[in-house]
Amino acid sequence: MISLKDALQKRPEELAEIRSELRRRADENGLNAYIAFDEAGEGVPILLKDNIQVKGWSVTCASKILQGYVAPYDATVVTRLRAAGMAPFGRANMDEFAMGSTTESSFYGPTLNPHDKKRVPGGSSGGSAAAVAAGEAIAALGSDTGGSIRQPAAYCGVVGLKPTYGRVSRYGLAAYASSLDQIGPITRSVEDAAILYDAIAGHDSHDSTSAEIDSEPIAGRIDPDRKLTVAVIDNYVAEASPAVRKAHDEAVRALEAEGHTIVHKELSNTKYDIATYYIVATAEAATNLARYDGVRYGRRCENPKNLEDLYYRSRSEGFGDEVKRRILLGNFVLSSGYYDAYYLKAQKVRHLIREEFNKVFEEADLILSPVAPSVAPELGALADPLEMYKSDMYTIAINLVGLPAMTLPILKDADTGMPVGLQLIGRAFDEKTLFDGAASLERSIDYSH
Ligand code: GLN
Repeated sequence: MISLKDALQKRPEELAEIRSELRRRADENGLNAYIAFDEAGEGVPILLKDNIQVKGWSVTCASKILQGYVAPYDATVVTRLRAAGMAPFGRANMDEFAMGSTTESSFYGPTLNPHDKKRVPGGSSGGSAAAVAAGEAIAALGSDTGGSIRQPAAYCGVVGLKPTYGRVSRYGLAAYASSLDQIGPITRSVEDAAILYDAIAGHDSHDSTSAEIDSEPIAGRIDPDRKLTVAVIDNYVAEASPAVRKAHDEAVRALEAEGHTIVHKELSNTKYDIATYYIVATAEAATNLARYDGVRYGRRCENPKNLEDLYYRSRSEGFGDEVKRRILLGNFVLSSGYYDAYYLKAQKVRHLIREEFNKVFEEADLILSPVAPSVAPELGALADPLEMYKSDMYTIAINLVGLPAMTLPILKDADTGMPVGLQLIGRAFDEKTLFDGAASLERSIDYSH
């Protein structure tokens, strides 16, 4: 598949051909990565996760409750893509409202992993990652609240970047957990990730949490020769599967061969991250999803008896099990009597996690870490919600702290043939160093797509 960089040089007729080729491949592969093949405008086709608004498109967050909703405006990332010669092409499958790690909770059915159709592509941006990995998309946008860009990128063998919180506008992204959500690119190379990141990054007055910090363009200025100090987190690695540990060893060797300095560190037990994240994320989700009431957006139940019945049945019929579980959990942790014990405490722990990362970054420029504890699991293997939550152990702290992080494919596991990806984590608003380190690791690793 053509790179994003090369596609930007193509004439409109050539791009039209590329669009039909992408469609043909998606039909042929049958991965269920696309919900729809909508097109909006001329330019290099970019696949969008189904929680990003494109004016005139049906945008559903892969939920039954949003059936029939048509977006009345473009998300800021969409406006910026257009300005950079790109155009929205297709809606990518995802976990319902981005809540999940497998893309199995989609109203449209699961997406399959292109490397093994018995396995999940990860989630929640599973459609975006599977399509890019399978050559059904040149590049895609996903969203990452607790790993949803980085983890599917790792499971599918592609590059996925979660920018610093506040770096990319959330205007027009359907909110899951507003203090954690970020939009970011999923591509096949670090260079393409930089091109797409440059297009979407930067301050936006429509998003009150958007940072007023200049975003210097990165593509074309990446310096893989810079020598950096990279921290490895020994207790993280010890908990991962043999395939992930092997990839980690390989990455450390590659980084040393590139002349970087490796330092060994520890971070707190990941079980605190999981508890903290699932309190903060569900509390915010319960609040954000209160707006889907059957009145203002999307689907409404038939023949409501009265207003309460309308709310009750529209929400009961429209939301899937995982979304309901999160709304229940979120309302519980926010309820009076439990607020201090859960929500307030989680905010305090969040602060401690931030301090721990700050400490590591006093010495290191980047952190190397696993993304997921193993290769992509088989469909149905994470049916137990707690098991699924636990599989987010390496990604969610990064969102709690707001740091930028990028997944890179490292190797294919000899036993299963499945890709293993690792993440590099950077200092807040220092995406440049993250790209420099990622480009260095990418060139010294021999991963074939
Ligand atoms: N798996 C995590 C969750 O279910 C992260 C999802 C995401 O990043 N959107 O909340």
